[in-house]
Amino acid sequence: MSTIEISTVDLYFTGFCNYKCEYCYGENDINPHMTKETYLQCLDFAQQINATTIEFCGGEPLLNPLFEEAVRLAKARGFQLILRTNGIYLGKHLDLIAENFEWIGISLDGLVEANARMRPAKNKISKEDQFHLPIANMKALKEKNPNIKILLATVASAVNYSDIPAFAQYVEEHQLPINKWKIYQFIKDKFRSEIYEDKYALPMVLFEEMKNQFPSTLLKKTEVQFQSSNVEGVSGNCLIVFHNGQIQIMKKIYGQIGVNTNEEIIDNLKNSPVLTYIQKNKNVTYQK
Ligand code: SF4
Repeated sequence: MSTIEISTVDLYFTGFCNYKCEYCYGENDINPHMTKETYLQCLDFAQQINATTIEFCGGEPLLNPLFEEAVRLAKARGFQLILRTNGIYLGKHLDLIAENFEWIGISLDGLVEANARMRPAKNKISKEDQFHLPIANMKALKEKNPNIKILLATVASAVNYSDIPAFAQYVEEHQLPINKWKIYQFIKDKFRSEIYEDKYALPMVLFEEMKNQFPSTLLKKTEVQFQSSNVEGVSGNCLIVFHNGQIQIMKKIYGQIGVNTNEEIIDNLKNSPVLTYIQKNKNVTYQK
């Protein structure tokens, strides 16, 4: 066994997405789906670093045709599973997800109009469906498995921050079955988030103003975490394995699964000063 312990391995399971959010730092069509070969090597690596959890992210991980098989392969090895999704395609895999996942992170950035403004779709889908489908799917998941935990994820930017308090009213009034709501102040990271930084950057004073408009009754009942962009290690504070096996933490590359041996990668990771961030980040996000 290795001497490092990282509880969660984030898999960049695909670069593809059905959305084209301008603030995105994950979607990139030049990064294809992770292959089965790389995926199996990732599971070996995760076991070697004593990880207990695999988190599927992207892009939209449900677009990788390997998804169902990948879930079964990971569960057969005893991993807990987390999914980050825009929620549109959850209905296609409802039973599988309800039975096998601990946490589902579903992204919505406001009510119908604000959400559609922040999250333009590539294919034909109405603004109403963009908003209501993820909500219907989260309710269906909770009905199938009341123990599954739902994280509502919202990006607050200059484009939608003033709409978020109305969304908070909705979340409260409709009693969305969420265990936690995490609101991320926009950060510039990779891909389009760099190109559109000027349009989306949200000054701290406006982020605070938005926070202060949250209904106190909602805050008493639901755990809402506001993640400001000035938190130490906020950008990429997880161990992410890219579709090609490359391992990154906070933009630093530690090796490539399938190219370097797991021992070489672990040796590189051992001395990384950021290991404490990533552990802390996962604990804060997914503890309930
Ligand atoms: S932010 Fe999420 S939903 Fe939007 S394009 Fe990126 S991966 Fe897709």
